[in-house]
Amino acid sequence: MNKSNHSRRIFIKNTAASTALLAIGIEGLIAFLESCSSGKKIKISSFKTGFKQEPLPYSFDALENVIDTATMEIHYSKHAAAYAKNLNDAANAEKIDTKKSLEDLLPEVSKFSTKFRNNAGGHYNHEMFWQCMRQKQDNNKPNGSLMKAIEKRFGSFTEFKKQFADAGKNRFGSGWAWLCKNEKGELNIGSTANQDNPLMDVGGLEIKGFPILCLDVWEHAYYLKYQNKRADYIENWWNVVNWDYVQKRYSAD
Ligand code: MN
Repeated sequence: MNKSNHSRRIFIKNTAASTALLAIGIEGLIAFLESCSSGKKIKISSFKTGFKQEPLPYSFDALENVIDTATMEIHYSKHAAAYAKNLNDAANAEKIDTKKSLEDLLPEVSKFSTKFRNNAGGHYNHEMFWQCMRQKQDNNKPNGSLMKAIEKRFGSFTEFKKQFADAGKNRFGSGWAWLCKNEKGELNIGSTANQDNPLMDVGGLEIKGFPILCLDVWEHAYYLKYQNKRADYIENWWNVVNWDYVQKRYSAD
């Protein structure tokens, strides 16, 4: 390319930019600058959660030393199945398109009924929870970019586990502990009450973002084996976390 052509291209580019700027106005410019500073939006297309229960990715007795067979069977076949059924009932009653994914619906869940909110959360949270676990592994921990991000944000894997466990232990009543990735790709820990989920557009959420790890701290998740000892359940649960799955969610962009 010769020099005059090059200058002409720059002139055209700058003129186009100025014209675009005039067209969007000052409010548009502010919105544009804000979108630049908040970093890229998270695309969650790799993790579409439908309205039906997926098969459990392992047998009911696969997590036996950590979560007993009876708990797994009742949890999946009764509790989680009920959320799926009630979700579909609510969607039918409210004419919500069940071909949509919950990743698309949870960010606008405030438009629908409490029944839809509770059961959409209940279904999504459990579908994700099953995938977040696998058979017990010795020295179970993440590696690669996720481990680096955890160490950067929390100082160490040990400190991360402590803060996550505290989120679960300190959740009063029933709920979930979460590790989430925000729009800037940063990690955060928090908990939600009942079946609320960090993707929801509802007030009062302690944590928002794209969830990459979740832990069910409802009593139905641990009571048969651990009774009132929620802390022991959480301590033991680290052995069955499926870090490969968590890494996949972390890496999704
Ligand atoms: Mn549950």
